[in-house]
Amino acid sequence: MNKAALLTLLRLEAATTVSVVVLGVIAGQVFGHPLAGLALALAGLLGTHLWYAAHLRLWQQSPKANELPAGYGIWEVIYDDAYMRYRQARKRKKRLAAILKEFRASTGALPDAAVVLDKSACITWFNAAAHRMLGFQTSRDVGQRVANLIRNPDFLRYLESEESAPEGVEIPSLETPDNTLWVRLVPYGKSQRLLIARDITDRKRIEQMRRDFVSNASHELRTPLTVVSGYLEMLVAEAELPAPGLEGWAQPLREMRRQSARMESIIKDMLKLARLEASSRVAEREPIHMARLLRDATKEAQALSEGRHSIHAEVDEELGLSGQPAEIQSIVGNLLSNAVRYTPDGGEIFLRWYADDQGRWLEVRDTGIGIDPRDLPRLTERFYRADVARSRETGGTGLGLAIVKHALERHDAVLHVQSEQGRGSRFLCQFPK
Ligand code: ADP
Repeated sequence: MNKAALLTLLRLEAATTVSVVVLGVIAGQVFGHPLAGLALALAGLLGTHLWYAAHLRLWQQSPKANELPAGYGIWEVIYDDAYMRYRQARKRKKRLAAILKEFRASTGALPDAAVVLDKSACITWFNAAAHRMLGFQTSRDVGQRVANLIRNPDFLRYLESEESAPEGVEIPSLETPDNTLWVRLVPYGKSQRLLIARDITDRKRIEQMRRDFVSNASHELRTPLTVVSGYLEMLVAEAELPAPGLEGWAQPLREMRRQSARMESIIKDMLKLARLEASSRVAEREPIHMARLLRDATKEAQALSEGRHSIHAEVDEELGLSGQPAEIQSIVGNLLSNAVRYTPDGGEIFLRWYADDQGRWLEVRDTGIGIDPRDLPRLTERFYRADVARSRETGGTGLGLAIVKHALERHDAVLHVQSEQGRGSRFLCQFPK
């Protein structure tokens, strides 16, 4: 109602009140009691207003369409307004109920479990798949803290700090522990989170089959290759001497020996990768004397470089690490060997081990050939080579950085690569604080 209409209504209401009061006084005058007439008129007016107000209150408590009587004067407007609002609210409620029903039906059909968590990580709602996969029950589990129901340590760590696993975590299914679930938390609204769980048992099975195949094939190939390499070694030694019947064979035999050695290192790296892939975390950690480990690795790099590069090491002698020494050795070895192999003669290589407020850092930097920015995202893929010719020529297997990445993941660490073509590369391994 606009202001002008309201003013007209109030004027009308005032005129009615005044008329009733005047009529009351006149009627009272006729009987010789004008004040009594005034009192009666006012009481009548007050009573009418009270009657309308009480009716409205009663109706609001359980509103129904037909119970609100037609009002009079200003009450007609108030009643009409209340009735209109009631109808609008009813319409909205019906629409929301329909949307909710549809939402429930569609989330119920979802194959993935969806659980809504409030800001204290308590369950406020979940779909049918969550009941199937996680065994949640409405009557028992709504309002419960999700940490009391999913007690897997990886999940609890993820729930506490999502940054530690932005892509989610894998946990055994609560209903059928042989199945694997992939669980992810998606923040939304002010501080709610949506927990999504997907059954990835089949994918895991296929991955396991692939891993077993690669590992078994490598094992099977290793023995015959060792035999071939052994004989080739002998033949190369023979051919170096002026042995009868082997004239002219020295060069081809040396090449055959070189290629079989290459195959041996590929198989060695494939087995190493298969072992690293077998579990996502290092089972047993031990204190590693990093300064000693890095000193040995620097010596190996110097031997590989044969004096063609200057290698500088800047190591925090006091700073240790907890992990698997062989894997850390493999990480440093691969990064240093790459730096040597992809840096032309006369270049420099820097090795650093230090800590800051973001973690412990292992850095290998070189002034070598660098890497095309387009190759950077794919560098840690198996057999992906940015510079195929140089990799083969220097005895690369194409698996070094894949090994580095997996070994780092098993130590909750991440690899950062920065590089500029023609200027050099920087490989940074960031370990947790
Ligand atoms: P490879 O055995 O071929 O060196 P890696 O997995 O160790 O395999 O590395 C993958 C590819 O990344 C290499 O083929 C090379 O092209 C590139 N690369 C690795 N390290 C460096 C580096 N320090 N400088 C330039 N390129 C590098």
